[in-house]
Amino acid sequence: MKLHQLTIHEARDGLANGEFTAVDLTEAVLERTLAVDNDVRAYLTLTPEEALVQARVVDGRRAAGEDAPLLGIPLAIKDVLCTEGIHTTCGSRILEDFVPPYDATAVARLRAAGAVLLGKTNTDEFAMGSSTENSAFFTTHNPWDLDRVPGGSSGGSAAAVAADECLGALGTDTGGSVRQPAALCGVVGLKPTYGRVSRYGLVAFASSLDQIGVLAKDVADAAILLAVIAGHDPCDSTSMDVPVPDYGGALQDNNRLVGVRVGVPREYFVQGVQPDVEAAVRAAVDRLADLGAEVQEVSLPHTDYALPVYYLIAPAEASANLARYDGVRYGLRVDDGGLIETYKATRGQGFGSEVKRRIMLGTYALSAGYYDAYYLKAQKVRTLIKADFDAAFERVDVIVAPTSPTTAFRIGEKVDDPLQMYLSDVFTLSMNLAGICGLSLPCGFDAAGLPIGLQIMGSAFGEEAVLRVAHAYEQATEWHRRRPPL
Ligand code: GLN
Repeated sequence: MKLHQLTIHEARDGLANGEFTAVDLTEAVLERTLAVDNDVRAYLTLTPEEALVQARVVDGRRAAGEDAPLLGIPLAIKDVLCTEGIHTTCGSRILEDFVPPYDATAVARLRAAGAVLLGKTNTDEFAMGSSTENSAFFTTHNPWDLDRVPGGSSGGSAAAVAADECLGALGTDTGGSVRQPAALCGVVGLKPTYGRVSRYGLVAFASSLDQIGVLAKDVADAAILLAVIAGHDPCDSTSMDVPVPDYGGALQDNNRLVGVRVGVPREYFVQGVQPDVEAAVRAAVDRLADLGAEVQEVSLPHTDYALPVYYLIAPAEASANLARYDGVRYGLRVDDGGLIETYKATRGQGFGSEVKRRIMLGTYALSAGYYDAYYLKAQKVRTLIKADFDAAFERVDVIVAPTSPTTAFRIGEKVDDPLQMYLSDVFTLSMNLAGICGLSLPCGFDAAGLPIGLQIMGSAFGEEAVLRVAHAYEQATEWHRRRPPL
């Protein structure tokens, strides 16, 4: 096993036992990145000098007897999270030259835990998309097949993890952007409960849906990363002041699931799901039953409304959040005589077409006369979607379904058809609307050798149950050990 291939927990052991140093590990991962990233293009900004300085510092901390959960672990950060002194572009021309003066709380917590930050990963512009093709800079390629998308919007982070260009990464998930790219790249992606992780320093897309999540090589690593970034933060009034469980400690090596109730939602096995995706997910459900879980069908009757509801609420919130990019306060400024002219020129040149589409949709949905018919109606249906989950979680501990209806599609296949692109997240949007948690992990491969993701959903603050089921499944299968043929 090469150093860059290690999981976080394996690397932690090697570092603690003195088998290698953080500098050795960081150099190995950087070398790997230089070898493959011309093809994968996961990173927008790579900071090798800073990473090696941090690695030397953490080696010093260890030599002085210190230990910390991520001491010496090289990680990547999606480029929608503020990093002090390091470009944060959100994949947009409008923030191309923006260098934040502070770290997002999640980033600060990684640093405090001893992580070595390698750089910023590619994303659809302002996290709007499912393929990274909406990045203003370039498209990231799927490490399993370079002609295909890695998913999105956290496609850079997912591809970086899959290609061993980091040991783990942060992403963000507003409607599926951690879980869907995790599925398409064959890695683990966890979207925590809304309020579990502070959003301070996360550039806002849709504030009531956005949540920072983690991308990792296995479930144990996802648990380690979540434990570091979770918890209350006075800088984010929506972060909840509830204790953070020992997520890693909750994972037992005994992978029995006796007493665990698993729900399979009828509405998630419908036409339009790629047959080998459905077959793999059904086989995974059987596997959970073999492990002792009690499997039962559940119903989430408002599932069909999740997509239209999401595409009213998310653009509405985005149109308000993105009003701040006016050429005065942040980033790009295109002077064009008067104030209004400058706003128009700056926003006209700075935003890409998907962002403009959302701003228009959202502004329309919020406008006088239409607010009640669209936005308010959508919020009411959102409550019904949440109530579906509340009812289901009375009967089961977790719900399992496909993460994405298809495996990775070809670059260019859906860029000209926004509705087709929006359908990529049809199985993930509901959890953001309900505020609950969800995880995707590998559960097989399609006929073309592309990874398939199994989604495990949990109730609000039910991450422990989700991680436990995911870990048991992972222990009983070999999918997570396969590596892309790069
Ligand atoms: N693909 C969805 C969208 O475009 C979700 C994006 C996300 O989760 N950030 O809005």
